[in-house]
Amino acid sequence: MNPMTTNTRTLVQQARMNELSGKHAHSKLLKKPLFITKFSEILCIAIPIVYFLPSEIVTSYLGGQRVGAVLAVLLLIVSIVRHIFRWDDNLVGHRTYMAKNHRSASRALEILTDQNATEEEALEYLRGQSDSTIEEMSLFEGIPEKVQQYAYRMALKEFSPAQISYAICANCKKSVWSFKKGSCQLCGGNG
Ligand SMILES: [Zn+2]
Repeated sequence: MNPMTTNTRTLVQQARMNELSGKHAHSKLLKKPLFITKFSEILCIAIPIVYFLPSEIVTSYLGGQRVGAVLAVLLLIVSIVRHIFRWDDNLVGHRTYMAKNHRSASRALEILTDQNATEEEALEYLRGQSDSTIEEMSLFEGIPEKVQQYAYRMALKEFSPAQISYAICANCKKSVWSFKKGSCQLCGGNG
């Protein structure tokens, strides 16, 4: 059993950084489908309540019977949009890959912090890190630059939380802890 080489350590570090970046991108991208799903659920509960309420209450407090119809139309629109943009599938996909990224990043950290980590162990981890699947790639299709930059900054912070001076953008060389909006393509900052 040979100790992990410096080259392999660098590869594991890079892999961890990629996993962290993916995790933060998924967590950002799932916010919209999650909001829409919750909104639909609220409408599904609100519509029958409005219909079953006594008409005097609906007229006095909710502005009349039409409120039920308006909510129903809203639910119809939201449901169609959910279907067209496949937001339900995306929500499941983002959650699944976020969990995968998290597990893989944790495993990389275990290897990196283990004094007795062997070269074989590290190579096995790298081999197991199969290339991103087509499904994961499709989830990142058309990902806005701002989300990529956000994910990169968050990943850098998580990569070395206790060592602020190490959370340096590889492009503009500024610490992402003192982020100021700017023109750096990688982190979106540099003040
Ligand atoms: Zn930068």
